[in-house]
Amino acid sequence: MFNLSGQVALITGSSRGIGLAAARALGRQGATVIINGRDADALERARESLAVEGVDTFVLPFDITDIEQSTQAVDTVLKTVGKIDIFFSNAGIQHREKLLDFPLSDFERVVFANLTAQWALGRHVAAGMHERGYGRIIFTGSITALLGRREVTAYTAAKAAMHGIVRQWAAELSGSGITVNAVAPGYIKTELTTKLWTDPEFTSWLENRVPVKKWGEPDDIASALVFLAARESRFMTGQVLVVDGGLSSSM
Ligand code: NDP
Repeated sequence: MFNLSGQVALITGSSRGIGLAAARALGRQGATVIINGRDADALERARESLAVEGVDTFVLPFDITDIEQSTQAVDTVLKTVGKIDIFFSNAGIQHREKLLDFPLSDFERVVFANLTAQWALGRHVAAGMHERGYGRIIFTGSITALLGRREVTAYTAAKAAMHGIVRQWAAELSGSGITVNAVAPGYIKTELTTKLWTDPEFTSWLENRVPVKKWGEPDDIASALVFLAARESRFMTGQVLVVDGGLSSSM
């Protein structure tokens, strides 16, 4: 089960963190992975680390917020590699600030990167999958779409809308062999959450609040992702798979 040999996976935001762990996990199952980020040097380092594990990897640097650049990059993949079977739309950014001080420009920047750009690129990838009659689209949602949290208003708006898009796209695309799901991580130790895991007070709160009593690791998300990316998850679509150590299901 979950053998991905012969399949091609494009993972945005995979030079580090959850995306890199996902690339490793999909690659271990046999997929050819195409990794992405804006920093070409970081991507090359990621490619080298994946090569050590025998993962067949291509690098594709582009900025998801540049829609023309990102859709052209996908066209290049389709011309050279021929197909994208698995699309993990994972790149994301954060801006933490109190609601009453939150600049409109930052709200728009975060919503554009975490929602609009992903909608545009995902739709472009979906068109190719639709032609071929097969695809696995997975977005990265968040528990902040389920539970309120201070100082992340733009991020929450984008991720909650993303959860909605998963259901809407599933309703529209699933008849053509494409499934659309999201994975919603809880608190995972990555660069994005540096401000939180370097704060002993926050970590102490988290260890008391989360039933598994610890920070999640990128690999914890990657293992759930393998299931959503595999042929075997064919009857699951329009769902948000929450991977949060029990945080959202407990008081
Ligand atoms: P990281 O900051 O560790 O990694 C983000 C990745 O996205 C990097 O590879 C970065 O590379 C890339 N990236 C950022 N902006 C762009 C862009 N405009 N175009 C292309 N690539 C970009 O974050 P995480 O691994 O923690 O986050 C991954 C996803 O998981 C995000 O969607 C995030 O919202 C979500 N998430 C994370 C949680 C957590 O606790 N960590 C919890 C819930 C959701 P580069 O900077 O070189 O472009």
